[in-house]
Amino acid sequence: MKTILASLLAVVTLAWGWDVLGSAAPAGAHPLWLLRLELMNWSGLVCIAMMSLVMLLATRPVWLEAPLGGMDRIYRTHKWAGILAGSLALLHWLAEMSGDIIKATIGREGRVPKEVFAGFLEVLRELAGDMGEWALYAMLALLLITLWKKFPYRPWRFLHRAMPVLYLMLAFHAALLAPSDYWAQPVGVLLALMLTVGVYGAVESLRNGIGKAREASGSIIAVERLAQDISSVVCRLDLAWRGHRPGQFAFVTFDDKEGAHPFTIASADRGDQTISFQIKGLGDYTRGLAERLQAGQKVRVQGPYGRFDISRCNPKAKQIWIAGGIGVTPFLAWLESLQARPSLVPAADLHYCTRDQASDALVPRLLALCAVLPGIRLHIHNAQQGAILKAQALKVCNKTEIWYCGPTGLADMLRAGFRSMGFRPNIHQEAFEMR
Ligand SMILES: Cc1cc2nc3c(=O)[nH]c(=O)nc-3n(C[C@H](O)[C@H](O)[C@H](O)COP(=O)(O)OP(=O)(O)OC[C@H]3O[C@@H](n4cnc5c(N)ncnc54)[C@H](O)[C@@H]3O)c2cc1C
Repeated sequence: MKTILASLLAVVTLAWGWDVLGSAAPAGAHPLWLLRLELMNWSGLVCIAMMSLVMLLATRPVWLEAPLGGMDRIYRTHKWAGILAGSLALLHWLAEMSGDIIKATIGREGRVPKEVFAGFLEVLRELAGDMGEWALYAMLALLLITLWKKFPYRPWRFLHRAMPVLYLMLAFHAALLAPSDYWAQPVGVLLALMLTVGVYGAVESLRNGIGKAREASGSIIAVERLAQDISSVVCRLDLAWRGHRPGQFAFVTFDDKEGAHPFTIASADRGDQTISFQIKGLGDYTRGLAERLQAGQKVRVQGPYGRFDISRCNPKAKQIWIAGGIGVTPFLAWLESLQARPSLVPAADLHYCTRDQASDALVPRLLALCAVLPGIRLHIHNAQQGAILKAQALKVCNKTEIWYCGPTGLADMLRAGFRSMGFRPNIHQEAFEMR
C-alpha cells in the first residue's frame, strides 16, 4: 500500500516539477506569491491523483488483487488514499486562503497575474472554483465521519455514496482551473489520464455497476443457528457463479434494503454451485440473522474476491496458521479443500483462539476436519482457561510464514512480540474490516 501511494505521489511530483523547472516565472513575480501558486498547483494535482486512485479502487478491480495483495488490502489502500486526498485538499484550501495573509504582509505587488479567459469559458471556470470549494467542505466532513469509528456503519455507507458526485465536482474543478500550459506538458497528460480513470470509477459507482460482472443469484438451501451468535447459511447459486478458491470471500445480499455484506466462503469449492457461510452476530444486521433467513429465500453473491488462498502457501517455509474467533472461516475452507488429498497436505500448526472452547460451535467442525489431516497440528487456545496465544509460544524464525485471520488487536500484539524477539516473519493477514 505504502509503495503504491508513494509511487503515485512521486510520479505526480516529478511531472509537476518538470513543468515548474521548464517554465519561466512571470516577470516581477514575488517568490512568496510564486510559492503560494505552486503549492496550490502541487497540492491540487496530488489531491486529484489520490482521489482518482480512490475512485478506481472503489470499482473492486480484481486485476489489482495480485499487485496489491487482495481485495481487503485494496480497500485499505482506498481508505488511506482517501485520507491523504482529504489532507491535501485541506493544504490546497489553506494555500488558497494564504493569499490574504501574503497581501497583508508584502502587499499585492509581485502577485502572479491570474489567467483570464473570454466568455462562457470564464463563467465555467468561476463555477469550477465554487464547485471545488463546496466539494472540498463536503469531502472533509465525510472524511471526519470515516475516521470517527463510532459513527454507525449504515448511515456512513449511505453518506459515502456521495463520494462519486464529489469526485466529479473536483474533477471539473481540476480540469478547468489547471494552468493552461499544463496541457502541452507531461503533467497535463498525467492529469488527463488520472481524470479519465477517476471519472470511470465515479460513473461505474453512480450507475451501480461495481462488480456486476461477478454477481450470481441463487437461493438459501439451509440455515442453522450453530450457537447464540453464530449462524450457518448454505446457498446454491446459478451458473453465473464461477467457483472460488478456498479462503476467498464474497459480498452477500440477503436483503436488498440492507445491501451487501462481506463474508468468507467457509466451504471448499465442491463444483456443485453451493457455498456456505458462518456468520457471527457482530452488529445490528448480523445479530439474530438466523431468525430472519429461511430456506428458499433469494440471495445475491458477488465475488469471489481475496488472496487468502492456500495455494499461495510457500512449501519451503514453516507454516503457522492463526485464527481468532470467527476469523477461522477461511481456514475451515482450507481444511475442507484438503480432505480429499490428505497425503498432499503441507505440515502446519493451526492455532485457534476461542473465548470458551466448551460452548464454541466451530470447535467440533475444526476437530473433525483436522482429524483426517495428519500434517495439521491443531492447537486450541481457550481464553476462559487463561490460554492466550503469545508470540513467544509460536517458535517463529525469519523463514516462518504466518497466515492470520482474526481480531486486529491480537495481530498487533503478535507482531509486536515477534519484533521484540528480533523476527520479521512473513505475515499474510485477512482484514475483516473495510472502513
Ligand atoms: C473480507 C471480509 C470477510 C469477512 N468474513 C466474515 C465471516 O466469514 N463471518 C463473519 O461473521 N463476519 C465476516 N466479516 C465481517 C462481517 O462482514 C461484518 O461483521 C458484518 O458486515 C457486520 O455487519 P452488521 O451490520 O451486523 O454490523 P455493524 O455493527 O453495522 O458493523 C460493524 C462493522 O462491520 C463492517 N461492516 C458492516 N457492514 C458492512 C458492509 N456492508 N460492507 C463491509 N463492511 C461492513 C464495518 O467495519 C462495521 O464497522 C468479514 C468481513 C470482511 C471485510
